[in-house]
Amino acid sequence: MIVASLLLIIIDPRFTQHRVPTPSARDRIVPLRPSLVSSSFPDQPSCASRQQLPQWRSSSSSNSSNKSPASPYLLSRIRDYEQRHKRCDPHSESFLRNSQELVRVNNSPDALLTRSKDLAPDCRYIVWVPVNGLGNRMLSLASSFVYALLTDRVLLVDFDDSMSGLFCEPFPDDATWLLPGDFTFKGRSNGEKFRGVYSLGNLLEKSEKKHDEEIAVQATALLYLYLSGDNNYDMLFYRDDTQKLLTNVPWLVLRSDQHFVPYFFVMPGFRAELDRLFPDKEAVFQHVGRYLFSPTNRVWGRVARFYDTYLAKAEQRIGLQVRVFYPDKTPASLMLPHILRCMQVVSGILPRLQQNETSPTSSATRSRTLKAVLVASLLEEFYTELKDMYWMRPAADDGEGGGGGVAAVGVYQTSHEGWQETGNGAHNVKALVDIYLLSMCDVLVTSHFSTFGYVAHSLAGLRPWYLQNPGDYEAKRNEPACVRAVSPEPCFHFHPYYDTNSANHGDAAGGGPAPVIMNCEDYEWGFKLANLKY
Ligand code: GDP
Repeated sequence: MIVASLLLIIIDPRFTQHRVPTPSARDRIVPLRPSLVSSSFPDQPSCASRQQLPQWRSSSSSNSSNKSPASPYLLSRIRDYEQRHKRCDPHSESFLRNSQELVRVNNSPDALLTRSKDLAPDCRYIVWVPVNGLGNRMLSLASSFVYALLTDRVLLVDFDDSMSGLFCEPFPDDATWLLPGDFTFKGRSNGEKFRGVYSLGNLLEKSEKKHDEEIAVQATALLYLYLSGDNNYDMLFYRDDTQKLLTNVPWLVLRSDQHFVPYFFVMPGFRAELDRLFPDKEAVFQHVGRYLFSPTNRVWGRVARFYDTYLAKAEQRIGLQVRVFYPDKTPASLMLPHILRCMQVVSGILPRLQQNETSPTSSATRSRTLKAVLVASLLEEFYTELKDMYWMRPAADDGEGGGGGVAAVGVYQTSHEGWQETGNGAHNVKALVDIYLLSMCDVLVTSHFSTFGYVAHSLAGLRPWYLQNPGDYEAKRNEPACVRAVSPEPCFHFHPYYDTNSANHGDAAGGGPAPVIMNCEDYEWGFKLANLKY
């Protein structure tokens, strides 16, 4: 009997691990080959999201894929990139040659990794290393890919265990972006020691004369770019003259938790190319993120099943992401009223409740709008409180979208992990599930300063409402409770100094390139891309 059951499990496709159902929302769609996805990819059962997500998006009325298609130039540059990647990836001869050279110079007594002058780097790499949470990681990874496009490099990733199993390989023809396990610097590049020896900033700081510094940088086989926020010499990376020095360095290892693409738009050396790649400045992460990130079947299966079960039938899907950075200062008792002020009063996304708990709602006689609220949070209480509220009392008639009728509000949550565990793969799977479910909603309320929220709304191409920090017990309440974003693009929090006001006015007055940088709605010291009028 046990043997028979086991046999059933093995042969019955319902028991196949990570089986991905076809969500009903996608059943209606005529299959089409999405243009960002290379036609060299076979229809891959091993990575169902690559085909299914674009199909789902093109059928969704509120997801913005049709509003701003990728430019033909971006598509052609991506197709070129894919060929370069295939030619240079870790399975290639070129990679072998380039990495053997790295071993040779690493074993030489010269600490600066001086490369052979006669070895013309046929392939040049940008190696991305993970730091901080998943939102931070996805932002800096997408920025690194844009950098690879701009500088004809090949993007490789030094994933740790917590990143494996989240994303499918992004490039076609069986190419890989994973740094091999036996690579000389695999897993070693996150430490301060590595920074001290190999960083660009260290080299520039040490070289006292400009000429020396140029020779030193250009002769180097590997340089570490430590772009993680503190204003160090590595931030000279964001200058055109430094970029020229880096041109022939075969290996760049990049550590950043930031969405640093916006700064490339203010570098004259990159601007013209970026304008051709991204005519719509509010869809940069959307295109790059959708291209680069395809969740694995393990992640996508959970997304699709949850979506079908709880969200698909709603007339409006509302994503609420509550990131509490300081639980001591902002307990749920403070956050919850703040969330309600945002969602019921400021944005009108959710209907208020009737005072009379006992008044029944008759679905037979009154028009009803079904709203599904997905609550993404490490904590459980926002979900339980909202769910109970809309279950115990009827919604008032004043809800947006109800047309004078009443809204029925369902509230759902996939998980509540309690605290951040960045090094844990299973935890990251749950985080990615939440990010993708949020990105499939019609309306988003996300938390200020949260890169997790940024990825969700930028992938969706939606302008979210940003929940402001509610302040703390002593401080004055922060009002309004939320503000509407001007652009769906993510914020670059810790950038090199740049005065958006004077630069934008200066550009416009002088007939220079159009201003495309604004201070972030949720963090005034950061800046982001937007289609600004001038
Ligand atoms: P940020 O800290 O808000 O900028 O976002 P990050 O994604 O960089 O780091 C936060 C990490 O905490 C995530 O990567 C998750 O591991 C975890 N986390 C935060 N919020 C949520 C959530 O709503 N759902 C899940 N599943 N995990 C979350």
